[in-house]
Amino acid sequence: MDEKGKETLKSQHGIPVGDNQNSTTAGHSGPTLLEDVYLIEKLAHFDRERIPERIVHAKGAGAFGYFEATRDMAGYTKAKFLRNIGKKTPLFVRFSTVAGEKGSADTVRDPRGFAVKFYTEDGNYDLVMNNTPVFFIRDGMKFPDFIHSQKKNPRTNVRDPDMAWDFWSHSPESLHQVTILFSDRGIPKDYRHMNGYSGHTFKWVNNRGEAVWVKYHFKTDQRVQNLSVEDALRIAGEDPDYHTKDLFESIERGEYPSWTVYVQIMPYEEAWTYKFNPFDITKVWPHSDYPLQEIGKLVLNRNPDNYFAEVEQSAFSPANVVPGIEFSPDKMLQARIFAYADTDRYRLGVNYTLIPVNSPKNTPVNNYYRDGFMRVDDNGKWSVNYEPNSFSGPVEDVSGKRIKYGVNGFADSLPYEKHSEDNDYIQAGNLYRMLSGEEKTRLIDNIANDLKNVKPDIVKRQLAHFYKADKDYGTRIAAELGVRDFGM
Ligand code: NDP
Repeated sequence: MDEKGKETLKSQHGIPVGDNQNSTTAGHSGPTLLEDVYLIEKLAHFDRERIPERIVHAKGAGAFGYFEATRDMAGYTKAKFLRNIGKKTPLFVRFSTVAGEKGSADTVRDPRGFAVKFYTEDGNYDLVMNNTPVFFIRDGMKFPDFIHSQKKNPRTNVRDPDMAWDFWSHSPESLHQVTILFSDRGIPKDYRHMNGYSGHTFKWVNNRGEAVWVKYHFKTDQRVQNLSVEDALRIAGEDPDYHTKDLFESIERGEYPSWTVYVQIMPYEEAWTYKFNPFDITKVWPHSDYPLQEIGKLVLNRNPDNYFAEVEQSAFSPANVVPGIEFSPDKMLQARIFAYADTDRYRLGVNYTLIPVNSPKNTPVNNYYRDGFMRVDDNGKWSVNYEPNSFSGPVEDVSGKRIKYGVNGFADSLPYEKHSEDNDYIQAGNLYRMLSGEEKTRLIDNIANDLKNVKPDIVKRQLAHFYKADKDYGTRIAAELGVRDFGM
């Protein structure tokens, strides 16, 4: 404080700063002196303000809130935050677009990320969801290629519809998600008016060691609302941070967005005999076979105090599951279990869980990890740093042990085992047939407008996929493009 009671400016090292406006120079117009250590520190810090942006989901917005259990799920899972009606668990959510860079516009046609970090008493549970129930590919081996095809052309540094449709046309499993992407839901009005879906299947395990398979659905209480293509284009120019602003301002106004949380539950043994492979993330489980069961409410009621500290530095990983929740053989999930935490370590450093938004809030962290860049806590002080030991170090907790499960077959690079109705076209066709006449017309217009800029051989290959999903779907897009012969 100075004599008037004002906070005074200090350097990174706590040293009082005498002049924050004028560099130290040799005379009024002389060159700047190296000994202006404060100028050097200030510029050097500024030079390092940016951290690597996420390769996908770079543009996002976040908020804090809570999950309230509305049904006791103890019969299915021992996860403590899902038992006891009325139990509230604090959480952080980050929403995002996928393909654009950190400075890109919000109102683009793109899936949206919907990542939730539940700060449970058994540690952090991350549900890293999207606003669509399915995904473009079913095996993580294809993910880097898929993302390359959706990003900028390596020569021109411009998004390239040939690349995007080339990949999709060679990957018919993408058709279901492509249909959702080009439907009205491909441009949500904002982050409050869209659903979140785990897409992945998880295993829930109860206290008796019994397991079921689940998929999560977070349904917006604000209603699903989307933007027209015309509005989205206009807003992208006028107000590129539209989604970000909407989330922040609605919470500041006290209009707290909420989602009702449901699960679909599949009996464990049914997975092996169900009509299609239920672990394949390019498919939904029909509601008629696995009805939605309400389990709770998610409410967002507090904005971050600082965007970089709490949103940019937030880190999620589907590997973070708590006792009572385990993995399924979903091949995309299995790849993400590795890739997310790997990205977090690259982007934020090995000690990223010391950043407050990423730290468990309702349980102490107790392990033998030590040192590493930015170890900013007490680093375990003098406590023992190895196990086994005879010095009261932390011991294993059987509640963290996952249940055993059977596997069979030979190790090999294989696609999923086919079930009787496994097929890339049925569900895309079901979705098309479910749409109203006007929704179908907009879907066809949206696809044709994009395909207009794509090479004819790629267009033909893709038209055959639309046709196989539904004859009307393929024929109408072909007619709009003026393509007569695409081999069907
Ligand atoms: P249902 O009739 O039981 O489910 C249809 C669901 O589709 C609705 O509950 C709604 O999900 C969603 N939906 C409604 N309008 C649209 C739209 N314009 N664009 C995208 N989704 C919409 O049938 P099925 O379970 O057999 O699913 C049929 C198709 O519905 C699927 O092929 C899939 O594409 C789509 N769908 C299915 C979901 C599922 O989990 N079964 C979830 C979302 C979409 P919501 O209430 O979640 O908005």
